[in-house]
Amino acid sequence: MRAQPTASHFVNGRYVEDTAGDPFECVYAANGEVVAKLHEATDAIVNEALEAAKAAQPAWAAMSGTERGRILRRAADIMRERNHDLSVIETLDTGKPLQETLVADATSGADALEYFGGLAGTLTGEHFQLAGGDWAYTIREALGVCVGIGAWNYPTQIACWKGSPALACGNSMVFKPSETTPLSALKVAEILKEAGLPDGVYNVIQGRGGVGGKLITDRRVAKVSLTGSVPTGRKVYAAAAEGLRHVTMELGGKSPLIIFGDADLDNAVSGAIMANFYSSGQVCSNGTRVFVERSFREAFVDRMVERLTKGVVMGDPLDEAVNYGPMVSQTQMDIVLGYIEKGVAEGAKLECGGRRSNRDGYFIEPTVFSGVTDDMTIAREEIFGPVLSVLDFDDEAEVMARANDTEFGLAAGVFTQDLTRAHRVVAGFHAGTCYINQYNLAPVEIPFGGSKMSGVGRENSKAAIQHFSEPKTVYVGMNDVEAPF
Ligand code: NAD
Repeated sequence: MRAQPTASHFVNGRYVEDTAGDPFECVYAANGEVVAKLHEATDAIVNEALEAAKAAQPAWAAMSGTERGRILRRAADIMRERNHDLSVIETLDTGKPLQETLVADATSGADALEYFGGLAGTLTGEHFQLAGGDWAYTIREALGVCVGIGAWNYPTQIACWKGSPALACGNSMVFKPSETTPLSALKVAEILKEAGLPDGVYNVIQGRGGVGGKLITDRRVAKVSLTGSVPTGRKVYAAAAEGLRHVTMELGGKSPLIIFGDADLDNAVSGAIMANFYSSGQVCSNGTRVFVERSFREAFVDRMVERLTKGVVMGDPLDEAVNYGPMVSQTQMDIVLGYIEKGVAEGAKLECGGRRSNRDGYFIEPTVFSGVTDDMTIAREEIFGPVLSVLDFDDEAEVMARANDTEFGLAAGVFTQDLTRAHRVVAGFHAGTCYINQYNLAPVEIPFGGSKMSGVGRENSKAAIQHFSEPKTVYVGMNDVEAPF
């Protein structure tokens, strides 16, 4: 098997296996080949990982931020040196084209390790001068053992986006990747160890939702950070609430992308491509409801179809000339094809695509619908595949109301050359991450996350520090104590 790891789990600084765990396979989505066989974590493995994380955390937190940061930054360097090999694993794990993984996955993980490694030595509390010479200060403390649970679309990135701020703040982590993409996080754990991370500080265990459930409800766990769908988010949030655990929820979306008639046509089409077809549409923040000003729609749709027809290169994702890969799994492909059928049945006009490709693997042609209305299923539910819906609009107030009429609030975007309108529109969006004349970029320096049903908390940037640490307040009395009796 092409990508068989040494063992299923990485606990306390070493690979461990327990063949009593339910077996599962990692499948290369481009041809259905089994590339690795693994086992779900048994209760013994779950316990071992949490014990290791609990035992390792105090000494890790007691190190200086500069020392912790140095290890994270060393790990970033190793990731960059191994970018090619890590990208191949990410491609085998997810089916995303190597052309993409070479620039978007280990590199993004390395950015997070480097950024939070740099911040680790700068984390401080505050000082407060109080009446009569009393004063107070806060100590920024780690939370303890944090659990990370990942989705399958960006396994390396998610492992690093959660691990880096957690570790920078002095926490330890048990990370459970998606059962669909179990490989990449193990490499992150290996690299952290090689960079000098003490054993037990970052552990990876495998399994489906049941294993995640055991982690969330364990009394040793202080915080849960999930990337996944809204239905899973509801369950995980509720389970974490039982123990009043801290949470970060990075969930799904159905984000609006508004294109006004004065936009630069090719930029708007490029933005909509990035918002719908990168990673074959398997991106949480995708702008899948593309509202196009009616007078501009025909030109927009024509150019979109032309660019997809001429530009998309489908094929083996390991071939660097290929820029468009399959769905991650047969299950996901079936879900997406089901939505396409619904779009047709509910009266949307298919402009291109709409079918499974006739090659091996789980490929779906890039699909564009026009004439989509707000009530159609494809305009309301997250599809998580390469399906773009064009909705017409005539005026700004109308489109804003329609754009916000969703339970989700992950991202939103606008293309226009009118500066005032651009800022007015983003001020009106009910969404956590907004774009003006750009879409779907998420550099580590800026906060990323959703509002409404799309999430709680933020990843990346200094904001992530707030979500992986808490202030301890210390009041210092400088005067005699006054008491009523
Ligand atoms: P999913 O919700 O099915 O699974 C996510 C993770 O949760 C998996 O590791 C799964 O094993 C685990 N899980 C499932 N049930 C659980 C339970 N009861 N308790 C604990 N853990 C449980 O999501 P997916 O299909 O892997 O990923 C796609 C979804 O993730 C989409 O909705 C997408 O929008 C979302 N996503 C969000 C972001 C973001 O940053 N907001 C990023 C990527 C993906």
